Amino acid sequence: MNQKSKRVQAMNEHIEQVDVLVVGAGMVGLAFACALKDSGLKVTVIERGEPAVFESLGMDCRVSAIVLGNKQILEGLGAWKYLSPNAQAMHTMRIWDDQHPGGIRFDADEIGASDAPCDALGYLVQNSHLQAALKKTLLPYDNIEILCPATIAKVEWLSDSVHIELKDGHKLAAPLIVGADGGRSWLREQAEIGVYSRDYKQKGIVANVRPMIPHHGTAFQRFTSSGPLAMLPMKDGLCSIVWSQFNDDVERLMALDDIGFLEELNLTFGPMLGRIEEVGKRAAFPLKGQLAMHLVRPRLALIGDAAHTIHPLAGLGVNLGLRDAMVLAQEIVDAKKYGEDWGEMSVLNRYMKLRMPDILSVIGSMEGLHRIFTSQLPGLPMLRGLGMKAVGNAGVIKSLLMKNSTGLTLPVPKQVG
Ligand SMILES: Cc1cc2nc3c(=O)[nH]c(=O)nc-3n(C[C@H](O)[C@H](O)[C@H](O)COP(=O)(O)OP(=O)(O)OC[C@H]3O[C@@H](n4cnc5c(N)ncnc54)[C@H](O)[C@@H]3O)c2cc1C
Repeated sequence: MNQKSKRVQAMNEHIEQVDVLVVGAGMVGLAFACALKDSGLKVTVIERGEPAVFESLGMDCRVSAIVLGNKQILEGLGAWKYLSPNAQAMHTMRIWDDQHPGGIRFDADEIGASDAPCDALGYLVQNSHLQAALKKTLLPYDNIEILCPATIAKVEWLSDSVHIELKDGHKLAAPLIVGADGGRSWLREQAEIGVYSRDYKQKGIVANVRPMIPHHGTAFQRFTSSGPLAMLPMKDGLCSIVWSQFNDDVERLMALDDIGFLEELNLTFGPMLGRIEEVGKRAAFPLKGQLAMHLVRPRLALIGDAAHTIHPLAGLGVNLGLRDAMVLAQEIVDAKKYGEDWGEMSVLNRYMKLRMPDILSVIGSMEGLHRIFTSQLPGLPMLRGLGMKAVGNAGVIKSLLMKNSTGLTLPVPKQVG
């Protein structure tokens, strides 16, 4: 081999050492990187390509309801200031079903301390805005690198590090790799981690719509026997819908023209916001419940949808993921402080143990709600109505329920530091 080819071979074999590798620059992967921005650790995030934005009436129709506790996380990360001009406050939430009048109503001024009531239950943000805000926050930090578009060809776990090779031949190694690559996580598959899975045989139709009456920051959720229809308040008088339906019905609804679709939507939602007059482009996403059989393995941790995917009926998916990101980042920073290897199971198990109660409790509540509201077992619809009435009237139960859906009683991780 001549000198030149030896040099080329040496270059090809060059392995870049970093402290943490992250797969996926979605909302959760980026939030995790943000949480490590001041840690002094070198973090490389690998994203296979900019995710598609589903525009509907000029706005991304993939939206997230950020609960109050998680707004505090985003403030601490420094991303909220970029997001807040486009975030719509949710002052009230109304939940009712298709068979019983009344239902439940939550108001923001009912939560918080009596001398400092909250002015919002949560905030509606477009997913693409949240990603852009997190990226903007990361811009000044040289220790965080985002490689995009980049495809990982190979991952190999060794005893003291994990090695990856990108399709372009670039090689990187770190003590830990973090899977933030969504519900169909490639990294989880490479690690041969199975999932507990529940196919709801449903899809969520999302679109932006314009109702006749202003929403005044109220989020509506109507439960029907085929699934919930959420009408979420957005900026400029628009609402974002998430309409969960069984697969056959989704096909039928997606095939309708806008007039036909609006007819069905108005019939199902009712007159709360007057007539819904305009609908933008629609998209449908399969709804699956999923939990990875292991959140951690030596030199691997899963966060966000890669670890768990939940029914969007309470809009808590990304909220859970943000809390994963913060807790894992804190464990890594603590491990660094005490001279521990953050890719070892002793550290990763701490992350897993801290997160499992929150994850299991949210999965359990979503599963319970889904069953209660879609079941037609004799007697259940009547019990459902009684439950709605009881919850609507009983102050203590209602305030507990409300605090859960605002995330105020959920474990909000402290700022990483
Ligand atoms: C209809 C619907 C409505 C929802 N509404 C809400 C809501 O109101 N509130 C809420 O909290 N949650 C909601 N969710 C859930 C929420 O959207 C998800 O929990 C959230 O998107 C998960 O974020 P993530 O970053 O973990 O994964 P993703 O958003 O899936 O991001 C994963 C990223 O990884 C990248 N990636 C994938 N594979 C690779 C690879 N091999 N290499 C490199 N990069 C890769 C992808 O390109 C992507 O950028 C909803 C979900 C649905 C379907």
